[in-house]
Amino acid sequence: MALTDILSRIRAAEAAHGRTPGSVELIAVSKLQPLDRIEAVLDEGHLLFGENYVQESAFKWPGLRARYPGVKVHMIGPLQTNKAAQALELFEAIHSVDRPSIAERLARLTQSAGVCPELYIQVNTGAEPQKAGILPEMADDFIAACRTMDLNVKGLMCIPPDGEEASPHFAMLAGIAKRNGLEGLSMGMSSDFEAAIAHGATHVRVGSALFGERAARKA
Ligand SMILES: *Cc1c(COP(=O)(O)O)cnc(C)c1O
Repeated sequence: MALTDILSRIRAAEAAHGRTPGSVELIAVSKLQPLDRIEAVLDEGHLLFGENYVQESAFKWPGLRARYPGVKVHMIGPLQTNKAAQALELFEAIHSVDRPSIAERLARLTQSAGVCPELYIQVNTGAEPQKAGILPEMADDFIAACRTMDLNVKGLMCIPPDGEEASPHFAMLAGIAKRNGLEGLSMGMSSDFEAAIAHGATHVRVGSALFGERAARKA
């Protein structure tokens, strides 16, 4: 689907659900996509992208940033502690702060480097054992702990379980954000971004609907 079609669907969902026009940002998820597809979206003037892998991003984005001033790239995939320093050099925001060890590492690194990336805490709303994210019942304490570390927590992120209706998960995430005074809600993907907008998403992360099917990840 063309960029303009995705953007019109986002604007239509904002209007349908009483959201402020332009309040939802599109993160174009470009992981595992060929460069020509990414360049096509950049050439249309879109500047906000999402990536899952540090290595892949280090390979792709420095060159693209040099050619497309104003680009912003957000890390949306699980972040290993030993890649945190590199991530801070590559990304304007990290949506996958999902455990105390990564929060502590980011706190130490951001203080020594004097940088202040926007952070989103990933909540495992479905309490899935294989999925990253803080459990919903631990979220309030974890958000408070991140704040005492002076981390720039902008909001929350979730990935609803496969094959389940996503809306209850979006509603849960919005509730946790509200009671903690957080404005950012990173939720909604290709198949459910309109439902996420209905529940207050500020950032939708759309990959395959925009770029087409992506390549399988090499082992
Ligand atoms: C890959 C990915 C997306 C994009 O998924 P699509 O279904 O292709 O839109 C969004 N969020 C996260 C965390 C992802 O890993």
